[in-house]
Amino acid sequence: MTFDFTFSSAEDAFRAAVRAFLEKEVVPIVAAMDESEEFPEATVGKMQESGFFGVPVPEEYGGLGLGKVGYCILLEEVGKVDASHATILGAHTSLGTTPLLYYGTEEQKQRWLVPAAKGEKLLAFSLTEAGSGSDSGSVHTAAEHKGDGWVVTGSKIYVSNGREADTVVLMAATNPKLGPNGGVTAFLVDTDLPGFKVGRCEKKMGLHGTSTAELILDHVELGPDRVLGGVGRGFLVAMTALDVGRVSLGAASLGGMQAATASALDFAQHRTQFGHPISEYEAIQFKLADMAMKVHALRLMVYHAAARQDRMGSDPSRWGRLERQVKTREAATVKCLASEWASEVIDEALQIHGGLGYIRGTPIERAYRDARISEIFEGTNEIQRLVVARDLLDRGL
Ligand SMILES: Cc1cc2nc3c(=O)[nH]c(=O)nc-3n(C[C@H](O)[C@H](O)[C@H](O)COP(=O)(O)OP(=O)(O)OC[C@H]3O[C@@H](n4cnc5c(N)ncnc54)[C@H](O)[C@@H]3O)c2cc1C
Repeated sequence: MTFDFTFSSAEDAFRAAVRAFLEKEVVPIVAAMDESEEFPEATVGKMQESGFFGVPVPEEYGGLGLGKVGYCILLEEVGKVDASHATILGAHTSLGTTPLLYYGTEEQKQRWLVPAAKGEKLLAFSLTEAGSGSDSGSVHTAAEHKGDGWVVTGSKIYVSNGREADTVVLMAATNPKLGPNGGVTAFLVDTDLPGFKVGRCEKKMGLHGTSTAELILDHVELGPDRVLGGVGRGFLVAMTALDVGRVSLGAASLGGMQAATASALDFAQHRTQFGHPISEYEAIQFKLADMAMKVHALRLMVYHAAARQDRMGSDPSRWGRLERQVKTREAATVKCLASEWASEVIDEALQIHGGLGYIRGTPIERAYRDARISEIFEGTNEIQRLVVARDLLDRGL
């Protein structure tokens, strides 16, 4: 096995282009976006035009073809600047385009994946319901047979991009008796279909640029062409998408941790107390050292996992059981540690900023509020530990 953690010149060039875009377009608007709590439509539109919403999707399906490594480069850079933009990208790309790329028929790819990857349409992913959070296989939204199609009724909650999406990859129960293994199906639900409605949009502690929406489905009629990945295979479709999402969430956390560490380092070298820059005090140096160590470790973990997913390709029927297990455990490990380290690093960075770090409108204060959700969404960290523990008990270390 080779261990080559260098990026290609094309990947370096992509990172530089993303960074330049963010400096010009996103950095100037994030404080106002956070304050107004509005979806950043203009910058999202420019990111769509730049191809950023289809980075890992192959060029033949309208994407940039840069794989999971390229996608993590994007999210690492976006994560340095703003977690809301990273979440909008992640909900669309990891959770929306992955199911289409991995499980879609050729017709579904042409109809839904190509416009999504080109940035012409926005996607969302909807698994969670009021009674079904961590126990995500117990969905109650019901899809009943009608002719050769389906009628879907129920409601979903906490859907990122739910207010703005054109299409939602939505999990519904097609045979409740069978539960997650065989009883849940993934559907492609266009949001302009009769009977589909966006309900309440939550006010949140952070991620103020994202919508977190309730979706109400009142007898939404879907043809057989809307079934994604086969009847009864929706839980598998969702979990496979979440493996991708958890690694890209790690990349966004990596970005947030770097921005916080850089800001704390700069502040510590310029803030003088007791006649010296505070960076000269060992208590501050040790905090900075711990932060830098976590950044280093997470960078290796994120790109190791992304490279594995690239090597495995986008046809799940070719994956062996062991390969799947290794990938899922690695994604859970990355997600869990990334989100906890991000919270810790940003907390320490805030501490180094002293009172200034607590003042509303500073980047560190926003980052502190934005980071907390990563320990909860895409599966709580308790659930990630269950995933790792189950595999550990099955396969060992
Ligand atoms: C801002 C935001 C955006 C989101 N975006 C999306 C989205 O786009 N699509 C989507 O489908 N969902 C989304 N979610 C939902 C998110 O994934 C869930 O909130 C999360 O999975 C937890 O579910 P829950 O809130 O129902 O908590 P619960 O499942 O009720 O958990 C409550 C607590 O119990 C713990 N717990 C539960 N079961 C166990 C167990 N077996 N062992 C140990 N501890 C356990 C949990 O870890 C947690 O600490 C979003 C949520 C938020 C807040």
